[in-house]
Amino acid sequence: MTPDEERLLRRAIELAGEARAAGDPPFGSLLADAAGNVLAEERNTTITGGDISAHPELKLARWAARELDPATAAATTMFTSCQPCGMCTGAIRRSGLGRVVYALAEEQLDALKPGGGWPEVPQEGPALYDEARAAVEGYYT
Ligand SMILES: [Zn+2]
Repeated sequence: MTPDEERLLRRAIELAGEARAAGDPPFGSLLADAAGNVLAEERNTTITGGDISAHPELKLARWAARELDPATAAATTMFTSCQPCGMCTGAIRRSGLGRVVYALAEEQLDALKPGGGWPEVPQEGPALYDEARAAVEGYYT
């Protein structure tokens, strides 16, 4: 990691501190272009915003998909105080960001949380294939 990348990652950690000071879970992220210019910053607002999906990584992925063309998005790097969760990883993939650099790994975070992690939710399926297929068939051609 270059000194400039370390500076950007430290800023993400600083944003995590700002989230904590505001009464939210301690997570922060930013999006930088290839030259290291910060394009956008976010912090967790799940508690103050009353929104379980208000993770900074998800907010930045949505911002990038809305505001950046695909080539610009692909040239960005997300610097984030913690490894993105499954929800955010999905959004990051869909947004076309180029790279993620994180500080705390998911396992390191879980070790800091009593009873850490989230319970699995059972899923059932596939079912009603013919009816479900009809709704989708031809859409992607
Ligand atoms: Zn997340």
